[in-house]
Amino acid sequence: MRDFTLNQYRQLLLTLQQAGYCFITMEQYCRESHPQHFVILRHDVDKRPFYSLRTAQLEHELGIHASYYFRVVPQSWNVEVIEAIRDLGHEIGYHYEDMSLVHGDTTRAVTLFEQHLAQLRAYYPVTTICMHGAPTSAYDGRDLWKTYDYHTYGIVGEPYFDVNFDHTLYLTDTGRRWDGYRVSVRDKVPQQQEWNRQGLTFHHTSEIVRYMESKPLSKVPSMMITTHPQRWTNALGPWLQELILQTFKNTIKRFYVQKNLK
Ligand SMILES: [Zn+2]
Repeated sequence: MRDFTLNQYRQLLLTLQQAGYCFITMEQYCRESHPQHFVILRHDVDKRPFYSLRTAQLEHELGIHASYYFRVVPQSWNVEVIEAIRDLGHEIGYHYEDMSLVHGDTTRAVTLFEQHLAQLRAYYPVTTICMHGAPTSAYDGRDLWKTYDYHTYGIVGEPYFDVNFDHTLYLTDTGRRWDGYRVSVRDKVPQQQEWNRQGLTFHHTSEIVRYMESKPLSKVPSMMITTHPQRWTNALGPWLQELILQTFKNTIKRFYVQKNLK
């Protein structure tokens, strides 16, 4: 069976619901008291925004609210899509990369951050942000917060700083696989190793589904699941394109990871 299709995604969500998890947005996680067993669905809209509209519709049909992070670059930004996803009841957040846009100049980066946040707030009252990993960039977007404080801008949460990954398992489809932390430059959390030690490492979506069918609430009380909706499609042509492109990109990313380790 092909992985990373909308059918697989739907199956994953249904299984999580049946296992007893509630779905909450990043904003709800930061602002409200939340249920003991929850999943935050985070979507990084890196490109092809219309793909995000399809996952947003699918989630809406299942009564699920997710968090969609948009970049302010042409390949991600689309007002029509932002408004449509908002109107389905999902959260909209800012997928920031201002440090790499100005080559690490923090003063210019924070000004740009403010501008971009205001641009997105014209369509949604954004309260959470999330770093865009930009694996080929020398700059880590999060370094901006060594000098500045995002709370100053009315931001209540950034997953890499504000989610307690000791209790919340982090799963991401980075690298078009669920164990992509091996090839990921920035999209990973320090607690990954501890979760791996407990056997919580998956490659295919079907492996997560199978595991979740055992209703593992006591082992995995909560989760953040990150997806890049551009790679989830039922159509064979774009699906093959994503498969080939991502295999190539993983080779490049592995090179950057090894370079950083040296
Ligand atoms: Zn991204």
